Amino acid sequence: QGFDLSDPEVLARIETARTVTLPDAAPIVAGPVSGGSRDVVNPATGAVVARVTEADAATVAVALDAARVWSAPAAERAAVLSRAADLYEENFGPIFAALAREAGKTLGDAISELREAVDFLRYYAAEGTSDTRAPRGPVVAISPWNFPLAIFTGQIAAALMAGNAVLAKPAEQTPVIAALAVRLLHQAGVPATALQLLPGDGPTVGAALTRDPRIKGVVFTGSTETAQIIARAMAAHMAPGTPLIAETGGLNAMVVDSTALPEQAVRDVVASAFRSAGQRCSALRCLYVQEDIAPHVIAMLKGAMDELVLGDPWRLSTDVGPVIDAEAQAGIETYLAQNAGRILHRTAAPAGGHFVAPALLKVTGIADLSHEIFGPVLHLATFAADDLPAVIAAINARGYGLTFGLHSRIDARVETVAETIRAGNIYVNRNQIGAVVGSQPFGGEGLSGTGPKAGGPLYLGRFYAPEPVVATGAWTQ
Ligand code: NAD
Repeated sequence: QGFDLSDPEVLARIETARTVTLPDAAPIVAGPVSGGSRDVVNPATGAVVARVTEADAATVAVALDAARVWSAPAAERAAVLSRAADLYEENFGPIFAALAREAGKTLGDAISELREAVDFLRYYAAEGTSDTRAPRGPVVAISPWNFPLAIFTGQIAAALMAGNAVLAKPAEQTPVIAALAVRLLHQAGVPATALQLLPGDGPTVGAALTRDPRIKGVVFTGSTETAQIIARAMAAHMAPGTPLIAETGGLNAMVVDSTALPEQAVRDVVASAFRSAGQRCSALRCLYVQEDIAPHVIAMLKGAMDELVLGDPWRLSTDVGPVIDAEAQAGIETYLAQNAGRILHRTAAPAGGHFVAPALLKVTGIADLSHEIFGPVLHLATFAADDLPAVIAAINARGYGLTFGLHSRIDARVETVAETIRAGNIYVNRNQIGAVVGSQPFGGEGLSGTGPKAGGPLYLGRFYAPEPVVATGAWTQ
């Protein structure tokens, strides 16, 4: 792909992108735009990097009135999405600049994110190219800030590939990346009435979109609480059965038993818990270590945490960037202050910007963890060999079911645990990060989401209108 870091020309373009001025963002609708504006802040520095005009009620109404399904043949829609994938790759400089300065992404995370977005476009284009089914109608896509390009693009690409009109509501924190993506999709040939962008906050713009009876489907990624609010709004205002595809939060666990290779397990724990500053829905939140090896693992874990480099997301040596904004930073720090007595280890954070020093907390018992802390905070519990079934039962009892990790060299144990744990994605003897569009689709169950898994064979099918069954009688005299 077009952004190989060993290519000097690519490096030069990344270097240039470091200093470019980010474009301002505004609603992109097929009609007049109105609304107030707000600063967009770089989470690594606190500096204002752009401004966003947020959609008001009148702009949402304009977009809803203008929305039209995309009636071009499927093969043509697929060709347009493939062209958009090429444009994303060609524009890696501005994309990386926006991911770093608006979302605080490290360069490594930005590269993975661009690859995933491109993969979504190409995958759904290939899946839907010869489909003859009809679209549902106008579909709302509501996305989070933590994968502001990949998730935003994945939702839109599937809905557009099926021919729906998409009204996209990006997260408040990342409107610039969303506007960049929509401009590239339009440039590739997506009609202005088939894809419109409505930046703004959830309770205003998101709520207006999810209570309009003209909407025929909602695709959402974000917190479990917001998904529940949206489900209630849809139930009250839309036709029964209007689909909500929701990818939500997790309380993800990993079990490390005494047969695991400690060095490998610790490396994978650190990556799973602290990469992206813990701001992944898949991130490891609670680690269960078998008690015989716990002192050794904890000592190694503390050492590995101390090695993590926090700081400027743009430096190649940076492991951990900032959290998204002042509110997220304050929320995580409050939680840590309330649990100060349980902190086993904490590293240092650089001054300035919204950095949170990674923390390791000891939890007592096996089930005293009730809500997702969306940051670099890892809880650790120990268990006795005989208690493994109780640990699995406690994890399942929380009701989430997103990711689960297991480090063990006992094949039979791996098999039993994989059969009993309720999780959408299970990672064995590796880190708990990642999904590969097409081959390793991603998504949870229970409080973690509705399915079908994004980037999997069933996902696109949800965006087509249900097909009637026709029964024909014979002519009789
Ligand atoms: P969030 O729920 O606060 O916001 C997500 C989106 O919903 C934003 O665009 C927001 O503006 C919108 N929204 C908020 N209130 C709304 C309302 N009343 N009506 C309609 N829309 C509304 O989540 P976030 O903080 O942006 O993202 C972090 C969360 O997302 C975490 O819980 C994380 O686990 C989850 N997440 C899940 C996945 C997954 O694939 N399962 C992936 C990424 C993030």
